[in-house]
Amino acid sequence: MPRPAPEVFERLLRRVDVPAWQADPPSRPTSGVHEAFTGEHLADVPLATAEDVTDAFARARAAQVAWAARPVRERAAVLTRFADLVHVHRDALLDLVQAETGKNRASALEEVIDCFLNARFYAARGPRWLAPRRVTPMLPVVTRARVEAMPRGVVGVITPWNYPLSLAMTDALAALLAGNAIVMKPATLTPFSALAGVELFDRAGLPRDLWQVVPGSGREVGGAIVESCDYLMFTGSSATGAELAGRMASRLVPFSAELGGKNPLIIGPGVDLARVADIAVRACFASAGQLCMSIERIYVDAGSYDDFCRLFAERVRAMRVAPGYDWGPEMGCLVSADQLAVVEEHIADAVARGARVLAGGRRRPDLGPTFHEPTVLVDVPANALAFSEETFGPVVSVSPVASLEEAVERANDSVYGLLASVFCATDAEGAAVASRLRTGMVVVNEGYAPAWASLGGPSGGMGRSGVGYRHGREGLLTYTHQRTIATQARWLSLDAPPFVERDRWPEVLERASNLLRYLPGR
Ligand code: NAP
Repeated sequence: MPRPAPEVFERLLRRVDVPAWQADPPSRPTSGVHEAFTGEHLADVPLATAEDVTDAFARARAAQVAWAARPVRERAAVLTRFADLVHVHRDALLDLVQAETGKNRASALEEVIDCFLNARFYAARGPRWLAPRRVTPMLPVVTRARVEAMPRGVVGVITPWNYPLSLAMTDALAALLAGNAIVMKPATLTPFSALAGVELFDRAGLPRDLWQVVPGSGREVGGAIVESCDYLMFTGSSATGAELAGRMASRLVPFSAELGGKNPLIIGPGVDLARVADIAVRACFASAGQLCMSIERIYVDAGSYDDFCRLFAERVRAMRVAPGYDWGPEMGCLVSADQLAVVEEHIADAVARGARVLAGGRRRPDLGPTFHEPTVLVDVPANALAFSEETFGPVVSVSPVASLEEAVERANDSVYGLLASVFCATDAEGAAVASRLRTGMVVVNEGYAPAWASLGGPSGGMGRSGVGYRHGREGLLTYTHQRTIATQARWLSLDAPPFVERDRWPEVLERASNLLRYLPGR
């Protein structure tokens, strides 16, 4: 089974921004990175210190000044060249993402396509959104007001292991286009996908110091980024997100957090159940369910429940689960033994509380150390972990509902609010259900992909699923401070004119203000 050669990891390690370690490798402890499919050692990555992060910020700050002064079209051109390089090197990127995460190749392809599309999208649309814009002034003609999008400065980016390429690249590239520098901490389990993406940015012409990659522990390196950044983009668990939100709030520094989910899929009466079962397989088990937008709860109209369970379970039992860098497997493994333990705990807890396993349910050590079967549970009680907490693995619960009304109610009964998926007899009915769901994204007639890839629309969670947005105009301007510049005509003073006594001027103004009632709203 081919995997990236050792030279690839050696080359990428040279892109780590810890000069003390580059000069003297024994000066820092390291952390081993392993191939998820086999558990075999791939390479050691240095664990940076808080001082390394301080140095990285100093270099990034110096580089940011010149970068922000460059015309936005020049910055956009770097994104376009990056997209071209992603396309050229897509096979190598797929191999790396698969090696680090153990996901099947089709799921890895989602990451590569996401990088390509985001870079092209923002390169094309971003310059217009970042351009100064005229806004309603204090007084027509005599006041001109415009809004400028100022870069924040140095954006701290902290990323998880589940989409290690896409989540390292796509937020950062929007921040770069807006004129910022980046200091990034990739997840300790999966630093090489991020390093490979940054290496392509270097080749696309990004100034070297503008994007600093500082691997290390969440507590030390992540914590130091949180203390130094001018804006934080955090993607990860809701628990860590809530902790970091408190620290950003105490610094009065803005942040975005893209967090966990417990995403529902609703199946109303009168839909093609075989088609929905096929879609649900992708929606639940892409990246072995280790995707924030994965479906973990399915609510089916009671009249279709038995048929859907039969079709879905048959389809899940037939899934090709295997290691491999080819296109054959439909699902790979979990990223780590810890993640496997969570999956097993959620299944055992649900079964102990009366749930039944309709498909899967077992780990597969014959395939590799962290393989687990895609698993369908029924009769899962509301107090089971698998029902209320994010599993972040290949486990889904299916429940019958008496009506769409009940489906909406139960789908909304969650502390999370990231994404929902809806299948109804007509598009109009689907849209009506969608507008009643309390989630940041809803997809009608598919799994998560159409919402994720609709780059013009903001993507962000409600409740414990997040704060702020990525994608769209919102996902770019969040990396800017919006500054209003109002220019008053020199010939008009706001003080009393010579023919009005200074003491009477407030009274004149008060009378004049009555006229405001007759002006149309602007
Ligand atoms: P995590 O434990 O919160 O870790 C995420 C990142 O934060 C890692 O780089 C981690 O470093 C770092 N970190 C941990 N503790 C920290 C601290 N105290 N201060 C600063 N940084 C810290 O999450 P995960 O298990 O890696 O990722 C899975 C979670 O991410 C799931 O809940 C999933 O739903 C969510 N997610 C959400 C989205 C979205 O867009 N909404 C996308 C993907 C994933 P180490 O790697 O060194 O531990």
